[in-house]
Amino acid sequence: MGNSDNAYTREYAVNLDKLDELAPYRQEFYVKEGSIYFDGNSLGLLSKRAEQTLLRLLDSWKHFGIDGWTQGENPWFYLSESLGKSLAPLVGGSPEEVIATGSTTVNLHQLVSTFYNPEGKKTKILADELNFPSDIYALKSQLTLKGYDPSEHLIEVKSFDGHTLNEEDIINEMKEDIALIVLPSVLYRSGQILDMKRLTAEAHKRNILIGFDLCHSVGSIPHHLSDWDVDFAFWCNYKHLNGGPGGVGGLFVNKKHFGQHPGLAGWFSSRKDKQFDMDHTLTPAEDASAFQVGTPHVLSLAPLIGSLSIFEEVGMEKIRAKSLKLTQYLMDLIEHELADYELTIQNPKEDHCRGGHIYLEHPEAARICKALKEEKIIPDYRTPNGIRLAPVALYNTFEEVWDCVQILKTIMKEERYLKFKNEREVVA
Ligand SMILES: *Cc1c(COP(=O)(O)O)cnc(C)c1O
Repeated sequence: MGNSDNAYTREYAVNLDKLDELAPYRQEFYVKEGSIYFDGNSLGLLSKRAEQTLLRLLDSWKHFGIDGWTQGENPWFYLSESLGKSLAPLVGGSPEEVIATGSTTVNLHQLVSTFYNPEGKKTKILADELNFPSDIYALKSQLTLKGYDPSEHLIEVKSFDGHTLNEEDIINEMKEDIALIVLPSVLYRSGQILDMKRLTAEAHKRNILIGFDLCHSVGSIPHHLSDWDVDFAFWCNYKHLNGGPGGVGGLFVNKKHFGQHPGLAGWFSSRKDKQFDMDHTLTPAEDASAFQVGTPHVLSLAPLIGSLSIFEEVGMEKIRAKSLKLTQYLMDLIEHELADYELTIQNPKEDHCRGGHIYLEHPEAARICKALKEEKIIPDYRTPNGIRLAPVALYNTFEEVWDCVQILKTIMKEERYLKFKNEREVVA
């Protein structure tokens, strides 16, 4: 942004939208008139294409009955694999390394069941104290199942500032008793991007396997998991990928691990041609498909077909470029307009280490979020004092960013948040 005052006008924002080559994609989404949706990092909006593919899937059930497993435009028996192919470029895996299956937490259980093999001195799992609770619960329960006390065997790297992790600190914890590392790609609060390439190389130097939770990065930043030699990854598809509430997630397993027996086996782990032999000895698929368990949730896969076609058409590089512009613009406006109001930007500021959302802190964050919602701006509150704002590339505009900051300024100036209680809702 230039230094001239005119960079802070609405006209400036409107002009940025005019120059934005992704602007036409907004019409592909159900964006609620009169409201500003900045929560696409928690639940992406419905696109018309996703709606269509869901309806067409229902239609195939109507039309084919049981034969829908093998007939129609998207035979259900192969849908997880075909969506894996569509997801692969988004994570930088080869098509056979990726499968659409399960949910984040279930996939984490599957991957840890498979790749956590404590032996001799190597018995511990390394994670971090800022990770999402579900991941930590899963890791602790996996340790318990293997007979280890999580209070000794789960090592959580400390954050030096409560918001971000220092990669040096993570590397220093990669000691010889660590068997497995699980870290986020983008931290869910501060939006910090961890250097997955470097961390993977450091883990491998020490003979440790490493996997990443991509929930906040998939569909938001590009990845090169195969090139980085990451062992495994898992994610949900309902945040930046707009796959729908509770939609089916995804996982990546590096091809060097193909042939590893799935920790949690089921008949969908099977080689497709063997599955209906009904043999009591599993012959696992020879690719990421082996890490499925049971029958896919076909109706919850269907929206992803349409949604991913948008990502394929646009490409991650353009999405990331616009996302960086939107979030930079948001930070510039916050610094310019809201300097008097104790709202601190707590995400990293440099492009290469921040993801797709902005993270603000304020002691009154819970009620500020309620005041924003009253003004039809949808933020995301994270206890105790965090406000996440995610203007996303496919459907948000620069003008919305400008409006949001103006409204937030009015809320702060007039202390409009005081009329709300400073506590979170049940779902926040
Ligand atoms: C959203 C999110 C989850 C959610 O897991 P589900 O199994 O889909 O409920 C887990 N971990 C992280 C880091 C997330 O951001």
